[in-house]
Formats: sequence, structure tokens, C-alpha cells
Amino acid sequence: MPVARVKSIALQGIAGQIVEIEVDIADGLPSYVLLGLPDSALSESRERVRSAIVNSGFTWPKQKVTVSMSPAWLPKSGSHFDLGIAVAILLAQGTLVPDSDLDRTIFLGELALDGSIKSVRGVLPSLLAASSNGSNRAVIPIGHATEASLLPQVRSYGIATLVEIVQFFETGLPEVVAKSHSEQLNEENEPRIDFSDIAGQRGAKFAAEIAAVGGHHLFLVGPPGTGKTMLASRIPTILPPLTSEESLEIAAIHSVASEIEARNPLSSRPPFVAPHHSITQVALIGGGAHGVRPGAISLSHRGVLFIDEAPECKAGTLDALREPLEKGSVAISRASGTVHFPSSFLLVLAANPCPCGKYSGRAAGCECAPSVIKRYGERISGPLRDRIDIHALVDNPTRAELVSEELPESSALIRQRVINARGQSAERFAGLGWRLNSEIPSAALRRRFAASRDAMAILHRSLDTQRISARGFHKVLRLAWSIVDARGGEFPRIDDVELALHMRLGEVG
Ligand SMILES: [Zn+2]
Repeated sequence: MPVARVKSIALQGIAGQIVEIEVDIADGLPSYVLLGLPDSALSESRERVRSAIVNSGFTWPKQKVTVSMSPAWLPKSGSHFDLGIAVAILLAQGTLVPDSDLDRTIFLGELALDGSIKSVRGVLPSLLAASSNGSNRAVIPIGHATEASLLPQVRSYGIATLVEIVQFFETGLPEVVAKSHSEQLNEENEPRIDFSDIAGQRGAKFAAEIAAVGGHHLFLVGPPGTGKTMLASRIPTILPPLTSEESLEIAAIHSVASEIEARNPLSSRPPFVAPHHSITQVALIGGGAHGVRPGAISLSHRGVLFIDEAPECKAGTLDALREPLEKGSVAISRASGTVHFPSSFLLVLAANPCPCGKYSGRAAGCECAPSVIKRYGERISGPLRDRIDIHALVDNPTRAELVSEELPESSALIRQRVINARGQSAERFAGLGWRLNSEIPSAALRRRFAASRDAMAILHRSLDTQRISARGFHKVLRLAWSIVDARGGEFPRIDDVELALHMRLGEVG
């Protein structure tokens, strides 16, 4: 019997590679050998594939079955190869007859014992990888039809059971209808939230706007119920809209994280991810035993990662953010190799001012001892705190703010200012290799992108008196540039740098 060959995809992070599945059925005692560095989930494919084939009414070969997956050196993980293995066995037996496009077709799907096709993770990045490797046809679990409809460059066919594969090869199946980006699936499904929902909070709103302009991390401190979550969840509405490539990249990350579609890949709104403070380090950073999954830091790529009640996080969990915050990506090491995910997010932490939450400049009623309040604040480690650019106080709106008839500014209005400001910084940094003020290298801040001479003197004095750290020195300058861009200035002068210092130190409420 001839050797049958079909294709599937192995994912590493969101990057995919074509894997060839070869099946040889030869005379000999009935046996099944799987070659090519399979992990345990893949090794168990034998039982699933056999049961699915038999329960779908096909015959299982009573000979020696050898399944070889190549490239041989590449560790292969997951149950999504099941469908490809089953198809290759059916082809090798002559149950199915290959068509002329088989060489450019990938198969993805996990088999249930009854022959139904189960959803798998990572269909979207797999299809992207297929198309960039010359495969323009795919058979996928029917549950991923919407995901597949976003990639018109790949003809996708969704199947619910293994039996339908016969139809695919013999009579053809209806193709998944491709959707174009102009079909405004877009913002309609997004919750309608807007900055105009927030009364008062001028200082905190300004802090959010500056954070959006320069990509600066933000720490919101205030009593419970003052709207920290409300403010944080609206930051994506003032960030520039995502390009279609960026939306696709983010949807690909979400696709690897979960079998079910969790994010509309056509959405141009940057993601907002708000894990509970009980989140584990693996869920935050990424990892996992069965196939590496991206963590919250990657799900919020190009958007906002918000952690409320940050001091309640388990000790050490938040400190794992330090490296991704510096690098904008995360490397997760496994025995099978290192997986990279992008993780360039805007971090927003929120905390009550003290354990009881009532401590504030204005309201009384807090009975926490000063030492307790101090310890509470120290639950966010110094090194992490140092990486946060803006500390903003959020308090209950005053009576005057609540009864004011002036409508607060809309997200659209603020977003336009953010876009203009970012345009100004992008122009300034053209050809230099970075785009946002938060990305200005330290060396450049000392020369070409320094502040005015008198403003620099203030900064040096703050450094000498240990009001700010060396990292803080650079962070304040970057922040000052964002203030300049928001105000439409040319370069940071004394008042820009003083405002940046105050924002850094949490003195603007
Ligand atoms: Zn208290």
C-alpha cells in the first residue's frame, strides 16, 4: 500500500510551522507506532483515532500502522493532529482518494471517540501560518468557522464529524464564507462605555490621558467605590484604534489561549484584561502543563492590563511582571523549547489607600495604624513600583462635580487628542526605531531628548535628594515629553517637568 501524506500545523506561541503526517500501512502483526517527538496528549491519539475511525463506520487496518511526523526534531504537542492522522490512515487504506489540492491542505481537529470533531486552540494562528507557507485550504472543526471566515486567503471547510471527511473528498463541502473587514461586525458587540460616564475625577482622567499618549503605566489609589475600575476599563476607548494587522495578531493570541472564541478578531478596540487579584503566576505570565498558553499579559497585548486591589495579590506574583514590562514580550521555557508571546501592554494597578479602604485626605473613619498603612503600600514591591510612571489619586467626586451640568468629555474627543499627540511624537521619532515617549532610550534622554536646562536642574536636584530614583529620573523625562505632546509644546520646560514629577510621585489628585 502506498504511503499517505497530509499536512497539519505545529504552533509555538503564535508562530506556526507545517508538519507533515506520513502513514505507512505494511504487512505484519497489527500494531501502531507514532514517530516524531509527540507529547503525551499526542501519543494518546492512537486510542482516539482508532475509536473514531471504527465508530464512524470505517475499518481499522489489521496490519502494522506507522505514523511519522516531520520535521522529526520539532517537538509536537496537542490533540489537534488527530484529524490529520485519521485522514492519512484513511488515505493509506484507500478509503479516501486524494484530490489535487491535498498537498496545499491542512487538517486541524481533535477526535472524540464517537467520531465527532472537537474544537482546538490556535486555529487562527494555524491558518495564518498555513497561508504564509503556501497552504490555502483547510479542514477545521465547525466551531471555528467564524475565526476562519476572517482569512479569505485560506479556503476553510468546517466539519462536525469524521464521516463528513468523505463528503469533503468526494462531493465537496460548502466553504466557510469569508468575511471582510468592511462588514462592520466591529464595535457593535462592544459594551458602550465612555469617559463621559465619569463625573469629576479631573486629575485621574488627565493621568489616564497622559498614560494613553505615551504608553505610561498607571497606579490608581483611592477608597473603594470611587470608580477606579470604571476609569481603567475606559482607557481602551481613548487609545488609538487597532489596525487590522494588530487586531489579527491579538485575536491569534486569544485563539491560542482558549478553544472558544473569546475575542472578536475584527474589533479595533484595544483589549482590556482585568484578572482577579487571586490570579496565579502562570495565568498572569503564561505557561501550563498541556501546551503553553499565553497569560493575561499577552491577552492584553496592545491594550490595558488592569489589576484591582493589587496589594492583595500573592507575594511575588506581580514581580513577575517586571521582565515583560521591560521587554514587551515574554519567553516561557519548557523542556520542549522556549515559547515567545508578545506582551506590550499598558499596566494599570489599583489599590485602596489602606486595608480598611477609608484612609483618604478628606474622608475620616479609617482606624488603620500608620505602620499598617505603610506595610500595606509596601506589598507592591519597590522595583515594581519604580516601573510605574504615574501615581494618581482617585477620590469621590465632590458635590459640585456631581451636580455640575457640564457634560464630561467623551472618549471620542479625548481619543482624538491622544491620536494627535501620538502623531506628534511619532513624527519626532521618525527613523529612530521607537514610537512612544515611554520607549525613549535613557541615553537619548540625556542628549537629544533632554528637557530645558533649568528643568534638567530640577530633575538632578530631585535625584540628589533621593526624591526620585535613577529609573524615576528617566521616567519623569519621558512623562514630561507626553505632557508636551498633549499640550502641543516643543520640548519639556520647567512646568512640564514639574507636573511630570508630581504625577510620578502621586501628588496630583
Ligand atoms: Zn484604613
